[in-house]
Amino acid sequence: GPVLAIESSCDETACAILAPDGTCLAQRVVSQDGHADFGGVVPEIAARAHLALLPALVEATLADAELATTDLAFIAASTGPGLIGGLIVGTSFAKGLALALNVPFVAVNHVEAHALTARLPGIVPGGAPFPYLLLLVSGGHCQCIAVEGVGHYRKLGGTIDDAAGEAFDKVAKMLGLGWPGGPALEKLAREGKPDAIALPRPLLHRQGCDFSFSGLKTAIAQKLAPYGQEALPHQFAADLAASFQQAVADVVADRINHALDMMPQARLLVAAGGVAANTPLRARLEDVAQRRGLRFAAPPLKLCTDNAVMVGWAALETWRKSAERGLPAPNNTTLRPRPRWPLEDMAQRFEPGQT
Ligand code: ATP
Ligand code: MG
Ligand code: FE
Repeated sequence: GPVLAIESSCDETACAILAPDGTCLAQRVVSQDGHADFGGVVPEIAARAHLALLPALVEATLADAELATTDLAFIAASTGPGLIGGLIVGTSFAKGLALALNVPFVAVNHVEAHALTARLPGIVPGGAPFPYLLLLVSGGHCQCIAVEGVGHYRKLGGTIDDAAGEAFDKVAKMLGLGWPGGPALEKLAREGKPDAIALPRPLLHRQGCDFSFSGLKTAIAQKLAPYGQEALPHQFAADLAASFQQAVADVVADRINHALDMMPQARLLVAAGGVAANTPLRARLEDVAQRRGLRFAAPPLKLCTDNAVMVGWAALETWRKSAERGLPAPNNTTLRPRPRWPLEDMAQRFEPGQT
């Protein structure tokens, strides 16, 4: 039977129902609107909103799929990493539902869910093969990860300061754009020239594949300083947005080239996370992959940002691998939500004696 999955680790409240082969039967995402005035996600508001939204969202998703709760084979939820209040709400809801239905509960690592999204049916013809290089670029993460199998992840490099999405959001804020800033900045950048304003390329050509964005953010602040409280000329703001986006793309392309040097066995380059929704960045990554004779895959935009389809899919992958290993079906009712949950800890699920 199908899996029902819940996502509540940040400010998206989401529910999805997937068939055992990963086909999405229904999915809904509510992007909470109570945070914009604060210029960032307020954890307490997010947790309360998840609590208010979830019951009706789950019912509506079931109705979309024309299923009853009794049709469900198991329940899954993101249990970390993320904002603990929201994680507690989603996990408790999912565990309660599983208990009431007498079906298993599968705990999902939110970052692993982003990492495995490219393997959803229909994204890469024949399914994304292991091993692949994953660029995870979101509001909270910026990492190059060698994905060697379900549960087997090796971090090759990551940001030494801000996450990529954080940089987009902060620069958008400086430009007076709404929040979340990424999509607004991309839109404004379409009216600007990417080479109009000289900006630094932090860590370009440096060894390894670490990232840094704070210098870029500082450079933008310096370009804006002469204007003080004055409104920015529209063309200047657009040029700055385009130049920033170009600098990010240059840096990311360089870092990915280094990461691919570190992982010659990679069969595919995959981008995931909210920033992977950025069209110029996707085009650039595709170009890097093509030059190296590799395939490039990025999930459709709505599967890049937070959603529950990826949570259901990660649960199905866990389920399948446990079965392959001759382990009992996963049932993580005693696993607590956790604000931190390193990917390196995900292999132990498949060691004998684990549930
Ligand atoms: P995490 O998954 O790391 O816990 P998160 O849930 O905030 O963090 P996502 O929902 O995956 O991350 O992505 C949101 C981030 O992606 C925000 O920082 C947002 O500005 C950025 N983003 C979304 N669309 C775009 C875009 N088109 N261009 C650039 N950035 C974007
Ligand atoms: Mg989000
Ligand atoms: Fe996310």
